[in-house]
Amino acid sequence: MTDPVKKLWAQRDRVTRAITKDGSFRAAVIHNTTTVQTAQRSHGLDPMAAMVLARTLTGATLMASFLKGEERIVLTLEGDGLVRSVTAEAMQVGEVRGYINLNRNPQPDRATPLGKGLLRVQRILYGEYEPAMGIVELRRGDVTSDLGYYLTQSEQIPSAFVIDVAFDGDAIRQSVGLVVQAMPGARAEDIFRLYDSIDYLDRLTEYADSGYGPNEILHQIMPLEIDIVASSPVDFFCRCSHERFTSALMTLNVEEIMQMKDENQRELVCQYCSKRYELSDEDFDRLINRT
Ligand SMILES: [Zn+2]
Repeated sequence: MTDPVKKLWAQRDRVTRAITKDGSFRAAVIHNTTTVQTAQRSHGLDPMAAMVLARTLTGATLMASFLKGEERIVLTLEGDGLVRSVTAEAMQVGEVRGYINLNRNPQPDRATPLGKGLLRVQRILYGEYEPAMGIVELRRGDVTSDLGYYLTQSEQIPSAFVIDVAFDGDAIRQSVGLVVQAMPGARAEDIFRLYDSIDYLDRLTEYADSGYGPNEILHQIMPLEIDIVASSPVDFFCRCSHERFTSALMTLNVEEIMQMKDENQRELVCQYCSKRYELSDEDFDRLINRT
């Protein structure tokens, strides 16, 4: 592929969904290197934090790929290891954003970044007044097995994730993820056989290194014949704006706003994307006069 535009298009982050021809499994593969690189860069993360956030963003996007339109999923993992919490929010339309907080005093003996803690999954779906919410204890604290455990135990959908994030020094170089789910009626022996074959997979990023996109990766790794259902682009994208921040500040009372102004607290930082916004004197006037 020599055409640079074509090449860029082929490299665009993308998630592809498929179903096996016998209808017993569905699967999704994501290639989201640019998305997780953007997350690492915007938040200025070391490799450990970048890895954990990348896995969470990848897992959320894979789970959201089975939803509709602007339906979205929010994953929050809280632990007592090096990572105190990590959050990712993904929409089926391909937007994902997230952030991570490290522990000041981590438990020293934890084998995984999150150690012990909780996973909270929120689904914001069309036609439902309240988000559907599920909580489980972390299975291992490595994100990947926690997500599979959640879906299998809490939602009774036998599921397995493989999320492979490769580094070049301190920076993320390549990221590929896979989720496989058994559909109702799948036979137990087929589920075990399929999950076994996933366990023995080579590193998924090597497929991307060889130039394979999600569609080809699915065809390569699924031990059963599949049909591709959908394929769509993915981006690290946050809907924050100056306007949204100032209207959110309207919920504070006037005294609090005046105190912010007196203390010259002008900078607002979006926790999801680390973008900075500056409040002007005019913004303060509008907030104080409620106009
Ligand atoms: Zn933002």
